[in-house]
Amino acid sequence: MALLQIAEPGQSSAPHEHRLAIGIDLGTTNSLVATVRSGLPEVIVDESGRALLPSAVWYRADHAPVVGEVALAQRITDPRNVVVSVKRWMGRSLSEIDSLADLGDSGPRSPVQVSAEILKTLRERAEQALGAAPDVLGIRHQEITGAVITVPAHFDDAQRQATKDSARLAGIPVLRLLNEPTAAAIAYGLDQQAQGRFVIYDLGGGTFDVSILQLSRGVFEVLSTGGDTALGGDDFDRTLFDHLAGLVVPGALPDLTLSVLSDADTSALRVESRRVKELLSSHAEVQVNCALPSGRRVEVSVTAAEFEKMSAALLARTIVTTRRALRDAGMQASEADGVVLVGGATRMPAVRRAVADLFGREPLTNLDPDQVVALGAAMQANLLVGNRAPGEDWLLLDVIPLSLGLETMGGLVERILTRNTTIPAARAQEFTTFKDGQTAMAVHVVQGERELVADCRSLGRFELRGIPPMVAGAARIQVTFQVDADGLLSVAARELSTGVEASVTVKPSYGLGDEAIAQMLTDAFGHAEADARMRSLHEQAVDAERLLLATQTAIEQDSALLSVADQALIGQRMAELSELCETLKDADALRAGIAALSAATEGFAAARMDQAVRQALAGRRVEDLDTNV
Ligand code: AMP
Repeated sequence: MALLQIAEPGQSSAPHEHRLAIGIDLGTTNSLVATVRSGLPEVIVDESGRALLPSAVWYRADHAPVVGEVALAQRITDPRNVVVSVKRWMGRSLSEIDSLADLGDSGPRSPVQVSAEILKTLRERAEQALGAAPDVLGIRHQEITGAVITVPAHFDDAQRQATKDSARLAGIPVLRLLNEPTAAAIAYGLDQQAQGRFVIYDLGGGTFDVSILQLSRGVFEVLSTGGDTALGGDDFDRTLFDHLAGLVVPGALPDLTLSVLSDADTSALRVESRRVKELLSSHAEVQVNCALPSGRRVEVSVTAAEFEKMSAALLARTIVTTRRALRDAGMQASEADGVVLVGGATRMPAVRRAVADLFGREPLTNLDPDQVVALGAAMQANLLVGNRAPGEDWLLLDVIPLSLGLETMGGLVERILTRNTTIPAARAQEFTTFKDGQTAMAVHVVQGERELVADCRSLGRFELRGIPPMVAGAARIQVTFQVDADGLLSVAARELSTGVEASVTVKPSYGLGDEAIAQMLTDAFGHAEADARMRSLHEQAVDAERLLLATQTAIEQDSALLSVADQALIGQRMAELSELCETLKDADALRAGIAALSAATEGFAAARMDQAVRQALAGRRVEDLDTNV
């Protein structure tokens, strides 16, 4: 993925300045923030060296929010005021969410507000680490320029908007949201390939997601997604828990022969199960030697093979889901050009083996599966703020560097897509004909910030033919500008009553380097005032010409209504106005000329109107007329 970043004229004094950009993985159970330092992406850790921030928020009695490990710990003592897994509620309204609306004594909180607390903590962590925190006097010497925040590929518009709103509340400038699987693919540099189809297998603590991405022309498209919101590493813990719970033996105390585990024992055994599960990823056998709070004990050895056997059904479910996603994407497993593993639970060797078997290739695993999404987001953010390694040559556009528009009457530019619009982008605008009976329209596509076509860059022309003859201004011609993710511009014109259509495709960036673009922007700023004057002059000229044409047509049709003297006066005013249009120098004189001609034709216009009414009424009685019309 590459882009062209345009500096505002006058603000481009430090071309090599490093802008602070961060990538945020806002997860269901854990969240992370990463950045690119010296060209390398890295996760930013807290003061205790921890990368993962538990996505848990505790609202204290004084309503102050506390995020992370501390909040998680409060689940035992103050569960009513702790919110976890808020991501599952993003995009839902408060009325749909009883659990959050009822939250403790501190009043209702929306998922957007709760998420904002997590994001704020990550922002502060990043500011500390990157030297962007306020100093002792409260002065900020550097700001985070922008962040890329990841969301699941299956998030809908409401969920995405909610995520953006959270970021805004947290004071984070969002460059864009990025699909989590795309971020993972970027972290592995898969975007550097020419094209391909990639599978992202993401097994976290509580959820499983699989996405099939297609890369073409530098852009990832999601071909299909699949998943299970109730399947994750925690379920693997549970199989071990069930196994170990059956092997608990009474301790030294005689009254502890109950077959049901107490809450405290259950908690402790859960923690032990998870520890054993994680150890089994790197050990063939683990000796469990655990004393529970009640004094009861579990002493047993578990082998990796045993654990795999007991959790095989869970793993099989992820493979079935993956096959379904492949089918939805219309491809065979063997056709994948790369498979990426994301999520802590993909550290289990059985997962890696099952995925390798399915695809007939080794999955990519050399990055930390917990960090890969945040790392990819950071890389994307780094690109978007315009930090480039020396010598890197970005060709692809990510924003439209210069406005795109078309030529209208009088040599003026009508801007359709303004510069810095993020791509892909599309916009349609309606135009009409200038002359009576006009059957063709020339569409001239231009690029630039100036008001006159002559000062902009011509990108292409085409003609729309076959417009049915109508009076000037009656035809409706819709012109659509569309820039695809690759920066390719297509312009189509369509006459709406007949559907006749014509179009052209151009590559606006072609042949324009950063410097040429910067020059065009500087020119536009330097000439802004003169351009505005020119625009007004040309607009007056267009009005004048329209009036001249209309007057000419009227005289041709109804000269009988004119006295010789009136005809002479109108002729004189028309000649004067034509002359002013010709010289095109003075907008005020043009305005006066238009007024003079209008005044001269006033009587003529009234006479024509009377005639039209008389003709309309001919042969009808006044009583027949519907006066409501
Ligand atoms: P995530 O939500 O991506 O952070 O994944 C968390 C899940 O990954 C939890 O279920 C962890 O127990 C699991 N996990 C972390 N490390 C390992 C490991 N070494 N082996 C197996 N599972 C692990």
